[in-house]
Amino acid sequence: MAEESGPLTLFDTPTPDWLRDRFQGFQNADIKTLNHGLGVDSTGLGHMILDDPARFGVAPDFSDFVVVTAILGDEFEDTNQHTENHFYDRLRAHGIRTVQVSRGGPERADGIVVLSDTRNPTRLHRRGPWRLRDEMLLNGTVPTAAGGHRCSMNHKQWALDRFAKLAFPGARVGKLVGYNADEARRAKKCDANNQKKKDEFAFDYPLIREGFDRSGIAHYVKEKTGITWGKSYCSFCPFSGVCASRPVHLARLRRYPHLAAQDLLLEYRSMALNRRSPLYVTESLYKRVSDDRQEQALGEFAALLDQADWAVYHVRRAYGAARRDSCERNKHPDDCKETACHDTSRKGNVYRSVRTVITGSKSVARQRLAALATEKDRPVELDTKHQLGHERLILRRRPDKVYGTAEEFYVLAPAGIRDKQKPSFDGTWSRIAQQGLIA
Ligand SMILES: [Zn+2]
Repeated sequence: MAEESGPLTLFDTPTPDWLRDRFQGFQNADIKTLNHGLGVDSTGLGHMILDDPARFGVAPDFSDFVVVTAILGDEFEDTNQHTENHFYDRLRAHGIRTVQVSRGGPERADGIVVLSDTRNPTRLHRRGPWRLRDEMLLNGTVPTAAGGHRCSMNHKQWALDRFAKLAFPGARVGKLVGYNADEARRAKKCDANNQKKKDEFAFDYPLIREGFDRSGIAHYVKEKTGITWGKSYCSFCPFSGVCASRPVHLARLRRYPHLAAQDLLLEYRSMALNRRSPLYVTESLYKRVSDDRQEQALGEFAALLDQADWAVYHVRRAYGAARRDSCERNKHPDDCKETACHDTSRKGNVYRSVRTVITGSKSVARQRLAALATEKDRPVELDTKHQLGHERLILRRRPDKVYGTAEEFYVLAPAGIRDKQKPSFDGTWSRIAQQGLIA
């Protein structure tokens, strides 16, 4: 295999040997990588490095320097084009080794895929074989707003770290990270995480060191490229208020109705399994897009539902109540099941079982739901919350905000959500749903 590949080459999941051969010369050496995340910060940092490599500890001929991007697959198209037209042009001019990687599949064992490795980058890959979106579709979930940007940790950071370990064994890798001066806390957290993981990478945050805050770096990129760089984030990010203001995000969705329709489908599947899981904490994407009268997106979303295969899913969910402090103080075991030790006003662990009953056309699936309704002698209910109109046969309804409770229903939804149930589920279900114990 040639040392360099054309930018459109798609490789198989690399073996470590394969990757090591390809990156000979970068091993057992001092190298610098720029994690180019497609946003204004890392793009700005990239331009600065090209202008003055010595300032960032990079060799004048860039022989020790690699730009790496983890492709998540759900970026807005303007961000992709900005990268190709206003960053890759300069990487080409300097012959910078430019690598694009992504996750190889749903499991970590599926490894990473090197989508492109070239000194002549022209095209940014729009997706790899396994997108973050694919994971959400498969699980019938939306990204959780709790616990920070776990999506980017699992998808982006994991692929980048994996790549560096496989490609540069024995090297001292200095990772240049484009966190800006407003993000010192994020950098500290990142450092703490890496100490925990005992990674051999040294992280450097030049923008923080040099005092470039968000507006400073945006101004620099505007001067350098002549354009206002779009924010880089997944279109279905639940932090839309953080990643971009709500009006800016809605305007972007309006510009890319195909993406908006895909996101509406993601939310629709998630809310079928859990009506309390719209994309945003307080309201649904569907409501925002409807209120904004985005007819094109709504039309494409309806078409996606029409074209889909459908299924009936049997969903059971048990909500444990949170453990009281006194339980811990009294040195009860971690899995204490005493009812008195749990507070039913606070949510504990949630356990879910999803089973596919039938898959087929929408009418076939709906007939099955109707037959189940007859069998159970209960009506099929149309859920009008968030205007999404899910059809459910509810066997057990859970009161809002009371824990140590359970819910059970059949629901009609697009096919393709995988069955999921932990081995311990039956025991938990029997305790909470059947015996009425709350933990
Ligand atoms: Zn206890």
